[in-house]
Amino acid sequence: MPQLTWPESALFLVLLAGSIFGFWLRFRKVWHIVRQSKKDADFQLQPVGRRVADFFWEVMLQGKVISQRPLPGIAHALVFWGFCVFALITANHFAEGLRIGFLHRAGFFGTLYFDIAAVFAIAVAVSITGLAFRRFVIRPKWLGPLSPESGIIALLIFLLMATYLATFVEGWESSRWLWWAHTLTILIFLPLVPHTKHLHLLLSPLTIFLKRDTFSKIPPLAGDEDFGLDTGKDITELISLQAFTCVECGRCSQHCPATNTGKILNPKEIALGVRAYLNEFGPTSEEPLLGDQISGAHLSQEAVFQCTTCGSCEFQCPVGVQHLPMIIGLRRGAVNTGKWEDDYGTKLFLNLERNGNALGFSSSERDKFIQKQELPLFDGTQDYCLWLGCMGAYDPQGREIIASLVRVMRGLNASFGVLRKEKCTGDPARRLGNDLAFGQLAESNLETLRENKVKRIISICPHCVRTIGTDWAEYGQAPPIEHHSEFLARHLDQLPARTGEGEKIVYHDPCYLGRYRGVYDAPREVVAKFGTLTDPPRSRERSFCCGAGGGLAFLGEERGKRISVERAEELVATGASVVAAACPFCNTMFRDALAGVSATPPKLLDIAQIAAASFAPSDK
Ligand code: SF4
Ligand code: SF4
Repeated sequence: MPQLTWPESALFLVLLAGSIFGFWLRFRKVWHIVRQSKKDADFQLQPVGRRVADFFWEVMLQGKVISQRPLPGIAHALVFWGFCVFALITANHFAEGLRIGFLHRAGFFGTLYFDIAAVFAIAVAVSITGLAFRRFVIRPKWLGPLSPESGIIALLIFLLMATYLATFVEGWESSRWLWWAHTLTILIFLPLVPHTKHLHLLLSPLTIFLKRDTFSKIPPLAGDEDFGLDTGKDITELISLQAFTCVECGRCSQHCPATNTGKILNPKEIALGVRAYLNEFGPTSEEPLLGDQISGAHLSQEAVFQCTTCGSCEFQCPVGVQHLPMIIGLRRGAVNTGKWEDDYGTKLFLNLERNGNALGFSSSERDKFIQKQELPLFDGTQDYCLWLGCMGAYDPQGREIIASLVRVMRGLNASFGVLRKEKCTGDPARRLGNDLAFGQLAESNLETLRENKVKRIISICPHCVRTIGTDWAEYGQAPPIEHHSEFLARHLDQLPARTGEGEKIVYHDPCYLGRYRGVYDAPREVVAKFGTLTDPPRSRERSFCCGAGGGLAFLGEERGKRISVERAEELVATGASVVAAACPFCNTMFRDALAGVSATPPKLLDIAQIAAASFAPSDK
């Protein structure tokens, strides 16, 4: 390095102080907002092991970034790893400015480290050029409008690498000009970080480490005065931190079924809306969070009620933003304070309250179905309590799925019984933000299960499985529950073998079975046993929603294109003769959608119906 004169060192110190001050000015404000936000009542640091593992995978190895978008992901990872390597180089560079440099190119370690850093510098320079090319030339629409700040940051990173690499040119190692060029680039870069979306460089490791432990977790309300996210005062530290961490990459929007079908909802704008609110009003404001486009609010009520709670956004986000607690929190705020006015919603809540089911039928209809199918009542001696759910008890197609599963269970000699009384699990109320209705249903059902001494539940509905298995925990311990795909896969060897080739069957992953429960292979194993399995382009973790979740199956017409139609087109395009579903809600959504997109639509079957076809009717 060049030997700086004392005036140069003094100038460096002044500039460094100015740069740090510029950084601190904005960072302090963000940090203050986060810390001023309400505490997360349910937050627990345990289990730390899981947090460390996530941190290692998502931050250090950049696993999520690479697995979701491999090429830009690797480029991003190289920039990140390069920054890690350059931490020591930069610390030494600043020390040199004060004439106390500690890393020298003459020593063994110094030579090795500088050389390794040079390799990373080349990788970073190439990667940042590639990322800038993608952003400014290819311009994927999910990245949003071009921002000059991204260009400036990319240029500064490139200059940092170039001015470092130039010191390896013979005779330039001690160039004063190079030293100052490198220094000034860092000093300009530093204050820009907290003023731009590159704040994620600092916040995302913390956000990922601290994020809630369960996918799409709905945190419990903290007492009678907690109505959900109604005003700024209700925004919690985690929500605040996540909102400021969003890097605006648009991965969440790219996979959102609502955004993709012309709705107002865009999950990125939810995170950015919370951030904009906090910047404008702060976390102690009593300004309402939700408004409409006319009022110019940062967050739209119509948008949050367009969410199917499919979880795709949360699953995709590389920096730990958890959209569902935000979206459902905002719904809670609107519903619990009476600000959400929707005829369908009101009818649904009344149905749940008066009839105990979402479809509004009298419970005697359920009794008739039980009698007609000769379903045994659960008496405490059987292995399984077969949970009918609203769809299985009242919806004609849902009933067919139950009848098929019953035929299989009888064929396998699995003992089961159904409850005499069973109410909706409360899933639509929970996801639409009606905590009162949800709590009453959960408590009533838990009591019934206790009275009947149920030890194990099986269900055809992934929404019931999630709600009973996870959401009810706020009100008491439910018996273990499994989805019928898991039961069928476990008994695969006992199912009759298929005869012949079997039909080409395309399997649609339901969001609440796949992303929520991580069950991808079990239904596929069942399908593959009886036909030739094929996947649509968007499958497994990236499956595209049917449009029914989050209570939307019970609300009115959708704005824009129907989500079910978008998905049905994709399923039909595979050329399969059968569409296999594993959720009665998917089934009901695709019933009309498939007929609407094809003159000769494929058959629509649940995996239980596919498996039941191998049993002779007499097996019943
Ligand atoms: S949960 Fe699904 S529908 Fe809702 S915002 Fe996220 S991606 Fe969109
Ligand atoms: S919320 Fe996450 S996925 Fe969506 S734009 Fe922000 S960083 Fe990207």
